[in-house]
Amino acid sequence: MKILVINCGSSSLKYQLINMENEEVLAKGICERIGIQGSFLKHQPGDGDKVTIEKPMPTHMEAIQSVIDALLDANYGVIKSMNEINAVGHRVVHAGEKFATSVVLNEDVMNALTECIELAPLHNPPNIMGIEACQKIMPGIPMVGVFDTAFHQTMPKEAYIYALPYEMYEKYKIRRYGFHGTSHKYVSQKAAEFLGKPLSELKLITCHLGNGASIAAVNMGKSVDTSMGFTPLEGLVMGTRAGDMDPAIVTFLQEKENLTSEQVNSLMNKKSGVLGISKLSSDFRDIEDAAEKGNENAQLALDIYNYRVKKYIGAYMAAMNGADAIIFTAGLGENSNLVREAICKDMDFLGIKIDAQKNNVRGKLTDVSADGSKVKVLIVPTDEEMMIARDTKILISK
Ligand code: AMP
Repeated sequence: MKILVINCGSSSLKYQLINMENEEVLAKGICERIGIQGSFLKHQPGDGDKVTIEKPMPTHMEAIQSVIDALLDANYGVIKSMNEINAVGHRVVHAGEKFATSVVLNEDVMNALTECIELAPLHNPPNIMGIEACQKIMPGIPMVGVFDTAFHQTMPKEAYIYALPYEMYEKYKIRRYGFHGTSHKYVSQKAAEFLGKPLSELKLITCHLGNGASIAAVNMGKSVDTSMGFTPLEGLVMGTRAGDMDPAIVTFLQEKENLTSEQVNSLMNKKSGVLGISKLSSDFRDIEDAAEKGNENAQLALDIYNYRVKKYIGAYMAAMNGADAIIFTAGLGENSNLVREAICKDMDFLGIKIDAQKNNVRGKLTDVSADGSKVKVLIVPTDEEMMIARDTKILISK
C-alpha cells in the first residue's frame, strides 16, 4: 500500500510518498512560491539526488499536478501509474471540537473544516484548497484528514476552559485547543516503544521545540494539557511568537503605540519571541552563535526561552503527579544540546538529571539521562508525515 502525505501551506506544499509495507519513503519534496512568480518544485526520489523543476503554479491545482508528474516521471519518478497511490493523507491544522481522531474526508467533514476557518484563518484555507485540488486531480482515491488539534481533544475541561465568562466558550468556542498534536502523539508512541513499556502505563512530557514550540502532558497515551491554546500563540517562547504574557499588555500597547488589533497581533506573532528579545534572528543557530560571542540580548533570549520550558515541565509534573520521561523533539529539541542541558539543569529535586556527554548528540533517538535519573530524558526525532500515513492506512483499511 502506497500513501501520499500532503501538507499544504498558503504558498508551499510538502509531500511524501510512503510504502506502508515497510514504511519506506519512496519520494518526498516541496512546491514553493505557489501563486507567486518563480514557483518551483524540489523533488527527491528515495535516497536519490534532488531535482528542482521550475514551473508556473498559480494555484494549488498546478502544484498537486506537478507532484503527480514528478512521481510519474521516467527519470526521477517512483511509480508507473497514479493508481498505485492507494490513499492520500492530508495535514489539517484545525478541526475545532469536531474531531478527536483522524477521519476519512467526505462532504460533511469538509463542511465542518470550513466552519473551523474562523478559528484558523491562516492555516485551514490552504489546507482545504490542497484537499480540493487533490480530489479533482485524483478522483476516486480515498483521502483522510489528520488534524493538529485532534490529539489534544482528550484534555479535561479544567485544562481547556479559560476563566472568561462562560458564554465566550458557548458563543465563540473560545477554549484551549492545542496544536502539534500529530508530533506529540508520534513521539509519545515512539518513546513508549523505546522504553519497552505500554503507552498506557506511562506519564510523558513531550517538548516540541521547533520554530513553533509547544509542550504537552501525555498521561497514559492521552494529552491532558498542552501549552498552545486558542491559537498557536500561547505558551512557550518561540522563534517570533511571544507565548504567555499578561493579556493587559495588548490593550496597553494598542493605546501607547496607536496600533490596530491587526498590528498588535502581528507584533506578538511575528516580531516577538527570541527574534524580539535578541533583536537579531528567529533562528536558534544564529542566537546560540551570538550568545557564545558575548551578545547579551542573544543570551537573554536563550535564558528566557529555557526558563519558560523549565516552568512548564514543573507544572506538568504537578498536573500528572510525576513523569516517567521528558521527550525533546523538533528542530531545536533534536539538535541543540545546549538548550536541552539548560532546561534540565537543576531539576534533580524533580528526579531529572541529564548526562552532558550522552546529550552531545543530534537528531538521534537517544536516552540522554544520567545514571540514576528517576525521570528519563529522551531525544525522539519527530515524523509527522509517518504519523499521518499510519492514521491514513488504518482508516482506509477499515
Ligand atoms: P523546526 O520548526 O522543527 O523545523 O525547527 C526549526 C528551528 O530549529 C530553528 O529555529 C532552528 O534554528 C532550530 N535548529 C535546527 N538545527 C539546529 C541546531 N543544530 N542547533 C540549534 N538550533 C537548531
